[in-house]
Amino acid sequence: MYYLGVDLGGMSIKAGLVNEAYEIVATKTIPTGRGKSSKEVLKDMAMLCKDVLTEANLTEADIDSIGIGSPGIASPEDGIILSSSNLNFDHVNVRAEIQKYLSCDVYVENDANCAALGEAIAGAAKGEKNVVVVTLGTGVGGGIINDGKIYRGAFCGAGEVGHQVIVKDGITCGCGRKGCWEQYASATALIRQAQEVTKEHINSKIVSFAGGKIENITAKNVFDAAQAGDHIAAEVLKKYFQYVAMGLTNLINILEPSMIVLGGGMSAQGDYLVKPIKEFVQAEMYGGLSLKTKIRAAELGNPAGIIGAALLGTTIK
Ligand SMILES: [Zn+2]
Repeated sequence: MYYLGVDLGGMSIKAGLVNEAYEIVATKTIPTGRGKSSKEVLKDMAMLCKDVLTEANLTEADIDSIGIGSPGIASPEDGIILSSSNLNFDHVNVRAEIQKYLSCDVYVENDANCAALGEAIAGAAKGEKNVVVVTLGTGVGGGIINDGKIYRGAFCGAGEVGHQVIVKDGITCGCGRKGCWEQYASATALIRQAQEVTKEHINSKIVSFAGGKIENITAKNVFDAAQAGDHIAAEVLKKYFQYVAMGLTNLINILEPSMIVLGGGMSAQGDYLVKPIKEFVQAEMYGGLSLKTKIRAAELGNPAGIIGAALLGTTIK
């Protein structure tokens, strides 16, 4: 048996065929296409799914279900995307459209939740039932896995871990609040923090690793400079890790997961990211209790979204 997973984005649609060992065995990508109606986009998607099956010499009969990860809010049981500003989708019945072309079970889910499910079933948190996946990227995204299933909340919008306020009257966030965790713990925030500090410390290795230009600093430059012994970089990272740990400790106090998985581009830093964050979380633990929640770097990277989408049906049926 195989599972089809689709990552529906504003720029591209990626479809992947996943086997029972949770590996992607065939994949295809097409542009989403600007200005297309939802019906047109979903027809393209159905054709893409057929192409992937053909490439793998399989038919609809070989697949268990199709799962689709999309930005915005989705109602997985009904197969409906309730709202997605990136795609201009408003209460679109994805299941009904896809089933015009393919006679399979169809499920939809928020893309960050799909990535979390992928890591929980097939990645860093394989075997864990209560997991929070936190993605430190352009923003801070996440997904909560409760007893092996995505926790959606009452209205399908749960898991927005990046929008917990950690600084009163802090930096204005895209969501409209001030001082959201995302403004301090994202990769974007780390870059901004490094840029502010290096204005005063232009000789820091962070700047030389960025080719001498503060505006070109990347998150990796900060890690590389710290590992090369640059104490300014070490100071920037220390503050950044404290911000990350603050939000993670909030999540642990409320949800008590057995594992937190840190995803996003920075997860490639492995122990350089995870070890110091763990220490700061331990220091903030409720009543000084020892930290039981494991903290790990994500393992799957980008394919997590497709794998999680593909396996959606197995957690819903
Ligand atoms: Zn926010």
